[in-house]
Amino acid sequence: MQATVIGTGYVGLVTAIGLAENGHEVTCVDLNAERMERLAQGIAPITEEGIEDALRLNRERLTFTTDYPASDLYLIAVGTPERADGSCDLSAVEAVARLIEETSPGASVIVKSTVPPGTTARLQDEHPTLRFAMVPEFLREGTALADNRQPSRLIIGTTDATFAKTVEQLFQTTAPVVVVDPTTAELTKYAANSFLAVKISFINEIARLADAVGADVTEVAHGIGLDPRIGSAFLRAGAGYGGSCFPKDIAALTTLARTHETTLHVIEAADRTNEAQLDYVLAKIRPERGMRVALLGLAFKPGTDDLRDAPALRLAERLEQLGVVVVGYDPAARTLLDQKPTLEEALRGADVAVIMTEWPEMKAVAPELLTRVMQTPRLIDGRNCWQYVDAPAGVAYEAIGRPGKE
Ligand code: NAD
Repeated sequence: MQATVIGTGYVGLVTAIGLAENGHEVTCVDLNAERMERLAQGIAPITEEGIEDALRLNRERLTFTTDYPASDLYLIAVGTPERADGSCDLSAVEAVARLIEETSPGASVIVKSTVPPGTTARLQDEHPTLRFAMVPEFLREGTALADNRQPSRLIIGTTDATFAKTVEQLFQTTAPVVVVDPTTAELTKYAANSFLAVKISFINEIARLADAVGADVTEVAHGIGLDPRIGSAFLRAGAGYGGSCFPKDIAALTTLARTHETTLHVIEAADRTNEAQLDYVLAKIRPERGMRVALLGLAFKPGTDDLRDAPALRLAERLEQLGVVVVGYDPAARTLLDQKPTLEEALRGADVAVIMTEWPEMKAVAPELLTRVMQTPRLIDGRNCWQYVDAPAGVAYEAIGRPGKE
C-alpha cells in the first residue's frame, strides 16, 4: 500500500518507519524543511534506540518532503499541544485536514494524533468528502520502535468495516485488535494516559508516607504489584511524571470534562499530587542561595532527548528562583541550562546532586566519584534508581520513600 504521514515527530516518524517495515511505500510530510532534508540523508531528528538503522534499512520505501502529495491514504501525526486554558490546540490537525481535502478529496484519513473525544466525528462532518478513522498511538518514547513493532493492542476507531480492514492491513499486527467508534477510540487514549498518571501519583503518595513511617516504597510497590489486579508496571516512586503527553492530555481531558459538567476528581488529584511531588524533591534538597546543585538527567525519561514538560527543567526553574546555582548533565537532551558535557564535570564542586532521569549512567554513578569531585557528596535519587542504595561511608544518600544509609 501507499500512505502519506503528515507530521514527522516522535509519532509520525516512528509510524512511518513501522509502515515501511511492513512493506508499504510511505511519504512523510512536515513543515520543518531542515528536518526533512536531514531525514532524507538518514539523520534522525530525535533520539530513539535503533532509529537511524531503521531509516537506512527502509530508505527505499521512505520519502521525505515538505509538499503535500496527492494520496489515497493519509495519517495525521502532528502535535496537539496544550492551550493556555488547558484545552487541546487542534489547529495543526484542522489545518492538515483542510489541506488533505484540497489536495485529495475522497481520501481516507487516519488520525494518529491524540485528539479529544468528539474531534474525529467533527472533522468527519466538516470534511464530508474524506473518510476518517481514529487510531490512537500508544508508543513510549525511549522504546518507540520496539513498541511500534510489537504494540500491546491496535485500537481502530471507525464505524466503517472496510476502512477497519484497511487499517489492519496497514499495521499488520498480531496484537489484539479492537474496533470501536472514533469517539471511543479517542477516549481510550486519554483514559490510558490518565490511568498511568494516577498509578504514578498513587505510588508517590505512598512514598511520602513511607518516608514518614520508615518503610521502603520499592518493597511496597513490589508487594502490591504481585497482585494481578494491580500489576507492577508504573509503580516506581520518584520526582513525578512529565513529558509531552501526560500533563497536556490530563489538562485536555479534565478541561473537556468540565465543559460537559463532569469533574474527573481522581485524575485532577493525580495532577495535583504530581505538582506537589516536585515540591517534595525541592524540600529534600534543602536549597539555599548560592548552593550548587547538579541535575543528573534532564530529559523527561531515559532513552529520549525529549524535554517537553520535563520535571528536571521545572525543578531547575524553582531552584534558580531561590538563588541556587544549577548545572545539568544529560547524555541526549540539550537545554539552555549550564549543561556540562560529562557527568563528572556536572558533579564537580556541587553541594547536592539530584538524579532526575534514570539513564544507565546515573544508576551506576560510582560513590567514589561523588566523594572525589563534589563539594559535599550528597545524592538525592529522584528516580529511586541508584544501584548503591546502601551508600558507602562518606555519601549522604536520600531517595523517595526508600531508606538510604548516610
Ligand atoms: P512532535 O512535536 O514530535 O511532532 C509533530 C510534527 O508535526 C513536527 O515535526 C511538526 O513540524 C509537524 N507539523 C506540525 N504542523 C504541521 C503541518 N500543518 N503540516 C505538517 N507537519 C506539521 O509531536 P509528537 O510527540 O510526535 O506527537 C504527535 C501527536 O501524537 C500528538 O497529538 C501527541 O499527543 C501524540 N502522541 C505522542 C506520543 C509521544 O510519546 N510523543 C505518544 C502517543 C501519542
